[in-house]
Amino acid sequence: MCDKNYLIVSNNELTHRQPNPAIARIVETLKSKGEKVQYSYSYQNAASYVVSTVAIDCILLEWNAHDIAQIRTLVERLSLRHDQTPVFLMVKSAGDNASVDAEVMNRVTETFMVLDDTTDFIVGRLQAAVNRYEKIMMPPLMAAMMEYAKEKEYSWSAPGHQGGVGFCKTAVGRKFYDFYGENIFRTDMGIERASLGSMLDHTGAFGESEKYIARVFGAHRSYSLVVGTSGANRTIMQACLTDKNIAICDRNSHKSIEQGLMLTGATPVYMTPTRNAYGIIGPIPKKQMSAEYIRGQVAESRFAALLEEKRPAYSIVTNCTYDGLIYNGDIIQNMLGESCDRIHYDEAWFGYSRFNPIYKGFHAMRDDKKAHAKDAPTIFATHSTHKLLNALSQASYIHMREGRGNIEPAQFNQSYMMHATTSPLYSIAASNDVAAAMMDGKQGVNLTNEVIEEAVDFRQAIARKYEQYKENDWFFKPWNPEVITDPKNGERYPFPEAPKPILMQEQSCWILNPKDSWHGFSDLDENWVMLDPVKVSLLTPGLNDDGSLKDRGVPAALVTAYLSNLGIVPTRTTDFQIMFLFSMGVTKGKWVTLMNSLMAFKKHYDMNALLKDVIPELISAAPELYGELGIRDLGDKMIAFLKEHNPSHKLNQAYELLPQIDMLPRDAFKQLVANNVELVSIYELESRTAANSVIPYPPGIPMVLSGENFGDENSPLIGYLRGLQCWDDTFPGFEHETEGTEKEDGTYHVMCLKR
Ligand SMILES: *Cc1c(COP(=O)(O)O)cnc(C)c1O
Repeated sequence: MCDKNYLIVSNNELTHRQPNPAIARIVETLKSKGEKVQYSYSYQNAASYVVSTVAIDCILLEWNAHDIAQIRTLVERLSLRHDQTPVFLMVKSAGDNASVDAEVMNRVTETFMVLDDTTDFIVGRLQAAVNRYEKIMMPPLMAAMMEYAKEKEYSWSAPGHQGGVGFCKTAVGRKFYDFYGENIFRTDMGIERASLGSMLDHTGAFGESEKYIARVFGAHRSYSLVVGTSGANRTIMQACLTDKNIAICDRNSHKSIEQGLMLTGATPVYMTPTRNAYGIIGPIPKKQMSAEYIRGQVAESRFAALLEEKRPAYSIVTNCTYDGLIYNGDIIQNMLGESCDRIHYDEAWFGYSRFNPIYKGFHAMRDDKKAHAKDAPTIFATHSTHKLLNALSQASYIHMREGRGNIEPAQFNQSYMMHATTSPLYSIAASNDVAAAMMDGKQGVNLTNEVIEEAVDFRQAIARKYEQYKENDWFFKPWNPEVITDPKNGERYPFPEAPKPILMQEQSCWILNPKDSWHGFSDLDENWVMLDPVKVSLLTPGLNDDGSLKDRGVPAALVTAYLSNLGIVPTRTTDFQIMFLFSMGVTKGKWVTLMNSLMAFKKHYDMNALLKDVIPELISAAPELYGELGIRDLGDKMIAFLKEHNPSHKLNQAYELLPQIDMLPRDAFKQLVANNVELVSIYELESRTAANSVIPYPPGIPMVLSGENFGDENSPLIGYLRGLQCWDDTFPGFEHETEGTEKEDGTYHVMCLKR
């Protein structure tokens, strides 16, 4: 195909001379063959251009010995976005050629003497290089798909739309076809297309793709999935567990882990993370991963008592909590490895961990896979490729390092297929392939560096404002260390003044120090958790250092409502915390808009602007309540509510003690299928058994799981739900989302087992 982008870089600006006639001929020939040509008339312009665009397939660089410094800069910049793009150097003479310096020469694909070589020869070489480049750039599955899309074939099987043709039979179908574009349909094919191999058998281009993904992610084996990390987690659990086994589970687990317990019938014992006054979910204390603690948990479980095999067959840790805390991967492996031969790191939000040295050691696929000893536990990692790498929704990976408790591919595949589909959408699988290719080589570190840099810039900008206002005014405070120590020379800086390279490169800046108070956790272990710099929490005033409530403050819910009105959506909001995720899709400088909006919020809050002016959507929720109210008045009401009901304290209590387990999740689910369940109002929940899990957002951690008991009338679980009810009644438009509850006649109900 001849539709590639060629960039011609020369230095014509100063002299206004005509383009070199030989180059003009090359351009003409390229254009006559259908190629696209763009010019850059200075090396400097080109140096910025190559960083801001990726739509370049080939670069022709006119050599000019006078501009050697600028050419070097350009060549250096290429590594950011165009590490492998072919670069052709055009020199005028042998003498000219002799003046090219080694650094430039090393990066150049080929050098032409523009006056000696014929135009056809040069253009032929260029096109060949571009084709080679495309071959090495494209990962295996995507390359095969692009090749396949070129073939026009008649198929007599599903999908019935036949490359999109079926859609074009009616107007509505045609709209759908035009909206998504031809290639999505052309590459949506049934699994009989042998030329691509089989996703379910891991053969052909699919098999090659998984091998490639494994190489990039440092795994012995990787699997590409189109059923999300929900499916990935269930796959692993189904491959590891039966109803004769014990599973060590992080209480801070995604819904899919409970589903895995339902499917397998395994008996869980739990590790319970801590929680600080801001409602931020902290780490599981290290001691809960010790063999002694886990033996104790197993000994205490009346369900485990019924099992012959007391050694747990599987363990799961959510690595990267919703609040951005990540664990020391070695310590997990060593500690849990004593109790269990298989450790699963659910890294749904942490797919980029391997590609930036700042995360070194704090994830599953650490260092070189060859260093993973045969007698080390088998490690699983799951990544939601679509969450923080670049892939279509539902794209997910399983990575494995084989050790003790390994599961052979043929056996593992039975579980893989059980949670897969026999009709995968290949473009999702191809996006898994592309996501890996995007992180391969230098690009991975470059891309993650850019995200970290944006997040660090934002954190420092907020921190500077916070410092400026903190004496007798207020501003948002970034949740990160207040003082940064340069590990090289021990020099200390207030966070806003710390040199950016230290924050971007020194992991020690982000490791939670038990002696610090900023994080709000009381019982931390050394070198146990770090904060991911790209997951940025801002705190609003309202809490004292000891976690007690102040008389005045700024409820985070109001900030979120205000920002939503401006089309800015934070990822998470608790009482006094708002969180923003920095990802590769965040464009440079986008945080400046956010900063401006936060400043505007402060102004409006301080002047008590009318809600109808600043959050107009709110008015329709309760016109009589909000119609004439100021935003600060509402804030004061919310603070008064929190002081009176203290839901956060109840939630903390609720999470501190595990509920009594009446039956295993699987048995509760069986009762649900048998319809032996009923909706129970939160005013009648005492001593009832939940038929489904109840998960308040935030924090997104189950309060009770299926089969667990709500407790007596003093139960913080019930107290929390009642407080929630009261909040929702008092502040319409600010209702919480609580999975596993239903509102009937305005009252929260939970599905419970019939008595
Ligand atoms: C989102 C998430 C999942 C599920 O991932 P999907 O790709 O949405 O199915 C699993 N675990 C954790 C920790 C998650 O946050």
